[in-house]
Amino acid sequence: MKKLLSVLLCLCLLLTALNTMVFAEDEISSFGISMSGFKGGATEADVKFTLSDDRLEVSQVSWAGTMEEDGTFKNQKTYTVFVSVKIKSGINAKYPEDLSVNDLQYSGINKANKAIMQPTLKVVKLAFEVKASETGEYISKAEEEAAKHKHCYCGGYIEIGDHTSHSDVTYRKWDGKEKIQYNSNGEAHIYLETEVVLDSTLNIGGGKKLYLCLNGNTIAMRYQDKRVINVDVGGELRICDCTRSELARITNGGAEYGAGIHNNGTVKMYGGIITKNKGGYGGGVYNNADFTLYGGDIYDNEALYGGGVWNDNDTKYNFIMYEGMIHMNVASSGAGIYNNDHANLTLKGGTMTKNAARYGGALWNNGGNVVFDGGQILENNAECGGGIWNNGEGLLEIKSGNISKNTATTDPYNDPDGRGGGIWNNDNGIINMTGGEITFNKAAAGGGVWCTNGSDFRMSGGVIAENEAYQAGGGIYVQRSDEASVPGKFTISGKAGIVLNYCYGPGGGAYVKGILNFEGEGEITGNLATSEEYIDIAAEPSAVINRNTSMPTQFMDVAPDSYFLEPVKWAVEKKITNGTSDVTFSPDDTCNTAQILTFLWRAAGSPTVTKVFNYADVKESDYFYMAAQWAKTKEMVEHYALYPNYSCNRMMSVYYIWCAAGKPECKTPLKFTDTTNTKYEKYYEAIAWAVEQGITNGTSDTEFSPGKSCTRGQIVTFLHRAAQKGLI
Ligand SMILES: [Zn+2]
Ligand SMILES: [Zn+2]
Repeated sequence: MKKLLSVLLCLCLLLTALNTMVFAEDEISSFGISMSGFKGGATEADVKFTLSDDRLEVSQVSWAGTMEEDGTFKNQKTYTVFVSVKIKSGINAKYPEDLSVNDLQYSGINKANKAIMQPTLKVVKLAFEVKASETGEYISKAEEEAAKHKHCYCGGYIEIGDHTSHSDVTYRKWDGKEKIQYNSNGEAHIYLETEVVLDSTLNIGGGKKLYLCLNGNTIAMRYQDKRVINVDVGGELRICDCTRSELARITNGGAEYGAGIHNNGTVKMYGGIITKNKGGYGGGVYNNADFTLYGGDIYDNEALYGGGVWNDNDTKYNFIMYEGMIHMNVASSGAGIYNNDHANLTLKGGTMTKNAARYGGALWNNGGNVVFDGGQILENNAECGGGIWNNGEGLLEIKSGNISKNTATTDPYNDPDGRGGGIWNNDNGIINMTGGEITFNKAAAGGGVWCTNGSDFRMSGGVIAENEAYQAGGGIYVQRSDEASVPGKFTISGKAGIVLNYCYGPGGGAYVKGILNFEGEGEITGNLATSEEYIDIAAEPSAVINRNTSMPTQFMDVAPDSYFLEPVKWAVEKKITNGTSDVTFSPDDTCNTAQILTFLWRAAGSPTVTKVFNYADVKESDYFYMAAQWAKTKEMVEHYALYPNYSCNRMMSVYYIWCAAGKPECKTPLKFTDTTNTKYEKYYEAIAWAVEQGITNGTSDTEFSPGKSCTRGQIVTFLHRAAQKGLI
């Protein structure tokens, strides 16, 4: 190869004025190239352009200007050529960028000079772009990349509340600087690839809907002088974090109202962490409309009111928490959430924990409507109302969930003001508890609940258990304010229970200075206190303890299904006997002779009897004196002594009733194996009569247990049956 003259390839590729061009299939793009370094004598026909991408073809080549007169190139001269590239029809391009003319080759032979123009490779980066065709055959590389970030607007992993099925969204990268582009529906979907630091608040205007995936990255306000995000009336924000990272944060906001997010529209939070924001009202969130928490965390924010959230919406709006956490926020009142006047708050799940305030550790409800229907209020702390402070005619409904391990005051042993470990109910606040648990809370007084100032706590379900107080009222403390004299009120009804609470002072279950109502089958029982006589309930003179007549009995130890329920009610109504306390009847306590005879005498109408006998062991001052005289007239007692304090057995009790009835004849033999005529001759006919009359059925089918002490439950039952039949 003689003189194989290498073609001087000094292609100065000046792609001037070639901005991004838009192509569709079959469209042609032209571009100009300045070329020089040809061997003199070569002609334009000698130059062949080829493309390595066979989806493209060179469709036209035109040399600009006038070639040399002889039609050949001159040495070292620069020429300009316009090359048109055509997209072959029917190609299936993935990215239009791939259709760039990457490998433009030209080659040729200068026949005149026998010079071969060496094939060469040149990369001509043509950043031209093909618009997506209507069939969607072409998509841009940006779209392809965005399509890689595609998941449900919840982040792809949440199924809770009203979010039960997923719906994919394609997110586009956002660097925090460019203006967010909303589509014709007013929607934009963005995700972060790196941390975004804002100098001005990210605003979602009315009619706009922003889907934001934090993608494990933080949005931070540069200086803590503005809120991070604002949602206008009619705007909507959905936040998620598909990576579930601890670094997916909305942080460093500072504003009087809502330092992290200020919402006047709709916010649905599925993930991410609103943290270290600082405000006056609502450190993390100020909600004025609809805010739903499906997940994520409102954590370590600070405000005067509502460290985590200040909720100030109105009747048609709601703050709903399905899941997620509100934790370690601080405030003067309502460290987790401050729910303001008329605001609606529904807690259905999630955890509010380790929030700390002066009043209302997890929640301060100031005249709003709160429904607690699941989730946990756990380990929060405040001076009063460790878990919840309900105030200002606020309505709190507790349907399910746990209010647990909260503490009122940091020093329950020494701080006398630590009241209401679980809940403080104040200032005409109303609490309806139909389910759920208030457990393991602690306070100086009112370990579980403190009620005062005209507040009303109605407990018809659920349990208040294992709370602890250091001064009074392990389970509940019902206060009557000494100054204003407006008592708090606590009503226990249904199947509710205040059990297993503990107090180092009086009132393991309840300490009452105000009003305590019992309705239904509710009970305060099985509590512990150091003052033994006040284990379940300790009441001060100002206390009013009401027992509704519609309830089965006032006695907690008389079960609604017990055989002596009606007899007990009858006996108390007839003043035959009282309870052994305001709330107990002690049906299993045994009776002595004096008691049995007194009951019987009262059942007979307390007849006045002139003195007929001088008992050796009965004084005129004894409460049973008249009953003892009457017993003698009825021939119940044969001895000179009554032995009033001796326990009275079943056989004697029935015998006394038989005597009172006038010792009627009875020939029906007994079937009891433990009660035979030979063994109990004196009592046999009395017992037989009692069985015949249905006064007693024995203690089993075959036994009467004649020698067993007669219990209070049994004697009132015997008397009741005898009285029903007009026998006494
Ligand atoms: Zn989803
Ligand atoms: Zn994502």
